[in-house]
Amino acid sequence: MKHYPSSVQALIKNFAKFPGIGTKTAERFAMHILKSPVKEAYALSESILALKKQIKLCSKCFTLSDHNICEICADINRNNSQICIVETPADMAAIEKSGYFCGVYHILQGALSPVDGINPESLRIKELLSRISADNVKEIIIATNINFEGETTAAYLIKILQKYNLKLTRIATGIPMGGDLKYIDKETIKCSMETRYDIRF
Ligand SMILES: [Zn+2]
Repeated sequence: MKHYPSSVQALIKNFAKFPGIGTKTAERFAMHILKSPVKEAYALSESILALKKQIKLCSKCFTLSDHNICEICADINRNNSQICIVETPADMAAIEKSGYFCGVYHILQGALSPVDGINPESLRIKELLSRISADNVKEIIIATNINFEGETTAAYLIKILQKYNLKLTRIATGIPMGGDLKYIDKETIKCSMETRYDIRF
């Protein structure tokens, strides 16, 4: 890196901070910027600054939003009485991509992980409980991830949501579409056997 001028070195260092980006890729990004027209470099830096200035959390569901209330919470065609709980805005985006869900979301902003200091108070659980009462919620779908932290969070939520008179569901786990049984790990096989469903009419 030392053979580059300091401004190029600084850019490479900044790109290398991105998740999954090593020095080699960071170097390629920097070279790309060097070759690009100056207006593209301005557009890139302005979009980064605009993101940092404008983006906030929706005051209802806590996803990323340009406004106080996000587009989904503001959409009158969405079912406010059905809340899907996810860990992050990226998880919400994944469910939205499926086009299946017509309810609204609640983004916890993480998952329980006592070793990392993430306890129930660190997540947006208090706000979730307020929404349940205020919006006359009829169903909660717990869609935290299927890993240790996600399952711990789901177990905690199931415990505290028991006292509410609503339908409480957990997303199913099992064989992915196009999945070939012989290549599926044993934990997934076990989960799909446990969550098997009746196929008789
Ligand atoms: Zn929202």
